[in-house]
Amino acid sequence: ASTSQPQDINPGSLTITETKTPGKLNKPEDLVFGRAFSDHMLTIEWNKDDGWLSPQITPYQNLSLDPATCVFHYAFECFEGMKAYKDSQGRIRLFRPDKNMERFNKSAARIALPTFSPTALIELIAKFAKLESRFIPADRGYSLYLRPTMIGTQKTLGVGPPGSALLYVIASPVGPYYPTGFKAISLEATDYAVRAWPGGVGDKKLGANYAPCIVPQREAMSRGFQQNLWLFGEEEYVTEVGTMNFFVALRNAETGAKELVTAPLDGTILEGVTRDSVLALARERLAPEGWTISERKYTMQELATASAEGRLIEAFGAGTAAIVSPVRTISWKGQTVHCGLKDHEESGAITMRVKNWMEGIQYGEEEHEWSYLC
Ligand code: PMP
Repeated sequence: ASTSQPQDINPGSLTITETKTPGKLNKPEDLVFGRAFSDHMLTIEWNKDDGWLSPQITPYQNLSLDPATCVFHYAFECFEGMKAYKDSQGRIRLFRPDKNMERFNKSAARIALPTFSPTALIELIAKFAKLESRFIPADRGYSLYLRPTMIGTQKTLGVGPPGSALLYVIASPVGPYYPTGFKAISLEATDYAVRAWPGGVGDKKLGANYAPCIVPQREAMSRGFQQNLWLFGEEEYVTEVGTMNFFVALRNAETGAKELVTAPLDGTILEGVTRDSVLALARERLAPEGWTISERKYTMQELATASAEGRLIEAFGAGTAAIVSPVRTISWKGQTVHCGLKDHEESGAITMRVKNWMEGIQYGEEEHEWSYLC
C-alpha cells in the first residue's frame, strides 16, 4: 500500500497510444445510434490505496475481467450520456459537461464507487473528443455520443464496497434523431410497473435502473406505441417518458394563463441536463411572453381533463439523444389523450423553438456559457 494520499484524476499524466488500424467511417446517413464506435477509448483505473492511476487513451479494445468481478453480480455500474458537437469552424464543443460530471459523481457515490474531480475528467474527455474529431460529421444534427462509464472491478462474490474500479469513456458517432424532421410519437401510460420510487435510485444513472424498463417498453411497442410514460402512485403522477424527461404546455382553466410544466426533482426523476436547460431557457425566453414555468407534480387525470377541455397545448420529451421529442397522444386506461397536435402536424411551436435554442447553443451558433470549447 502506498503511504501517500489517494490520488485524484490527473490529466497531466495522460498517455496516448494511437491506433495503427484506424477504422473506416460510416456514411453519415448510415449511422445507427450506439452501433459504431470511434478508434480509441479513455480508461482510468482506481484502487482504494492509490486512488486514480494515470489516464490512458488507447485503441478501442475489449476489457478482460474475471467472471467473479463484482460488476457482473451486484451491478456496480453507472454511466453518463453526453455529446460532442462540431461547430461551423470545425471546432469541437461539449454541452454543459459540468452537469454530466456532477450527476456521474452522484451516481458513483450512491453505489460505493469512487468520485473524482469534475474538471479533471472534463479536460480528458475534451482531449479524447478532439482526437476523435474525424468521426463527427460537420453537419447540423450530427454529433459524437460520449459514454462515460464506471464499474466496480473487485474480484469477489462478497457483497461490499469495491476496492477497485475502472472508469472508461467510449464514443459513438450519431446522426439526427429524426433524419427527415420531427416525427411526433405516441405514448402508452404504464400503470402496472414502476420505474422509480421515493428513497430509491431513480434519480441516479445506474445501469440497474435500465434493464427492468425494457419489458414495459417492449409491451408498449407491441401495442403500437413508441415509448411508455411512467406514472407513479395511486394519484398517477406523470414522471418521465422512456429515457426522457417530460414537459407539457397547458392553459389554465380559470385564467387562461399559459404554463410549461415538468415534474419536480423529488428523487424519482432523472436529473436531466436537457430538462435543466429547457427550464432555464424557458424562464429566460418564455416567461417574458407571459408563460409560467413550473416544476410541480401533475397527474394523468389533470392532463386528460386539460386535453378534453382543449387546454393541453403541446407535450414533449427532453433528453440528450433527441433533444426534444414531440408527443401526439397518450394512451391511458383505454382512452386516447390528445396532446394538442393537429393531424398534419409533427411538432408544436414551443417544442420547435426549444429545439432551435438548444441546437443553436450546442453547435456554437449562439455564444453561450453552456458551450465548452475543447
Ligand atoms: N430520464 C432518463 C431515465 C434518462 O435515461 C435520460 C437520459 N440520460 C433522461 C431522462 C434525460 O437526461 P439528459 O437530458 O441528461 O440526457
